[in-house]
Amino acid sequence: MEGTENKSILAIEVTETQRETIRHLFAHNEWELNEVPIRENEAQVQENQNDEDVQDFVINQNVEEEECIYCLCRPCISSEKNRQMWWLEDPVAPNRSNSQRRKDIYKRFWTMLFHRNVWRDPRYIERKRNALRQDPQRKNYIFHRRDLMPKCVVSKVRYWLPNLNEQPYMGHMWE
Ligand SMILES: [Zn+2]
Repeated sequence: MEGTENKSILAIEVTETQRETIRHLFAHNEWELNEVPIRENEAQVQENQNDEDVQDFVINQNVEEEECIYCLCRPCISSEKNRQMWWLEDPVAPNRSNSQRRKDIYKRFWTMLFHRNVWRDPRYIERKRNALRQDPQRKNYIFHRRDLMPKCVVSKVRYWLPNLNEQPYMGHMWE
């Protein structure tokens, strides 16, 4: 009997018409249709929204300031005017462990740029496309969440957290 059987959740991808047909089929059989909301159904779920750092707000650019050619922000995202609590005051001594710290800082810059809508700027998208065309393995660029870190950020972060002299910077794998 239907009411006594164990239920399991079946996730299937359907069109609105198919969904309607399923509703009719269930109604026809007098089955209870229990739709379980799943994350994929939420409108345009972006991977960004998983990031706990990311809140839903946009920081407006200051039109009075000059636009940085790298990060497309006004002023440049790495400008002292954008200083955050987690920014370093001065560079630390060169060290092998700096690469891990750089990764964390790139992540935070990524969020700052996200809030300024840089990742959706058509100029940035075009630039990323070109970079990927030249270097499909993404080996020579710094990426975070599939986004290309602008040169100003990379320079600043490497300045704060330098490698040892003999240790080359090797792009995203080693940052
Ligand atoms: Zn910049």
